[in-house]
Amino acid sequence: MDRAHALALDAADPLARFRERFELPEGLIYLDGNSLGALPKTTAPALEDLVRREWGRDLITSWNKAGWIDAPARIGGKIARLVGAAAHEVAVADSTSVNLYKLAAGALSLRPGRRKIVTERGNFHTDVYILEGLAALTGAVLEVVPTEAVLDAIDETTALVVLTHVHYASARMWDMAAVTAAAHARGALMLWDLSHTAGALACDLTGAGADLAVGCGYKHLNGGPGAPAFLYVAERHQAAIRSPLQGWMGHAEPFAFEPSFRPAPDLRAQLCGTPPILGMAALECGVDVLLEADRAEAQAKGRALCAQFIALVESRCAAHGLRLLGPRPMDQRGLHVSFAHPEAYAVVQALIARGVIGDFRAPDIARFGFPPLYLRHVDVWDAVEILRQVLDERAWDRPEFKARAAVT
Ligand SMILES: *Cc1c(COP(=O)(O)O)cnc(C)c1O
Repeated sequence: MDRAHALALDAADPLARFRERFELPEGLIYLDGNSLGALPKTTAPALEDLVRREWGRDLITSWNKAGWIDAPARIGGKIARLVGAAAHEVAVADSTSVNLYKLAAGALSLRPGRRKIVTERGNFHTDVYILEGLAALTGAVLEVVPTEAVLDAIDETTALVVLTHVHYASARMWDMAAVTAAAHARGALMLWDLSHTAGALACDLTGAGADLAVGCGYKHLNGGPGAPAFLYVAERHQAAIRSPLQGWMGHAEPFAFEPSFRPAPDLRAQLCGTPPILGMAALECGVDVLLEADRAEAQAKGRALCAQFIALVESRCAAHGLRLLGPRPMDQRGLHVSFAHPEAYAVVQALIARGVIGDFRAPDIARFGFPPLYLRHVDVWDAVEILRQVLDERAWDRPEFKARAAVT
């Protein structure tokens, strides 16, 4: 592989036309779309129209006229196509953390008599924090076990297993169908966090028999900073699952102003308060672009970019002791690549100073994401060349690159 070969791959790339659908600053290589997806070119005009016309001119009539009230279900139905669910099984609401709380609490309501929740040590911290809080309030018992002990920890006292499908640091991917089947074999429910899956990988919640899922709107879905998240409840659970946050949007008739809560008979029962329409509109723009691309093609390109990055880093930066996290087979990974290095923080800062944006994850991880719709093979080549220079020159070894910022 050399730079000419990378350019040839880009010339033959059936997804190449998608790059111009995103705002990407000239001269910047953006390898952090797994943390904050890039801005689709349709988003700013859509928000401008929403603000000036729908809000500014049509005011409150837009709840009906512009379909604001349907946004959670409408955008959920679009995300359903990305995660392999039926349209009425996905809704957009709240943050991933809040949705996880709602669905995990709901799972306990579906398994009365069972108190155990199993999750993986090293799962994304918000997932563990949320489950700790739920356990403290409900008397559920949370078992946070090492990766290799997860399956054995599921027993006939287990109400729920919560796992992140693609690990935020290592990119290791669970076998969704196999783990779901193992949970079901013990009578437990399965909740998947799809934050690093949705919009990145082909995903089949229905085929896997999944019960519940949540996921993030601002990563591979390109919904913008703090975009609303999504939740999935398989149809077979929708009538029975309770929500711990019984807001009016979850009521069977929100505008009947009944004195007491009566849950909607469907997924709407998992909504709580008024949907944030500006954020939802931005998310819809991100999802709409993704839906234009062939999922299998996008996954294949993303994996090719990751494989290229790993191979180039390991051959061209071999002297610098970078250690790959996660498995090597591409079909066991998501679309980001992490290397451990003792000076990872400073290395990432030095890269940013040279126009390559990745991110740092404590304690020693440099992480790089490869969203296939707006990255090229030549970007991967150039990023590794700049990484090689940063390491060869010890360009990271400067005080300003070692001073930690609030958000890393
Ligand atoms: C990014 C991410 C989240 C985000 O949670 P928010 O509440 O939306 O901030 C949750 N879980 C995982 C695994 C993530 O990677």
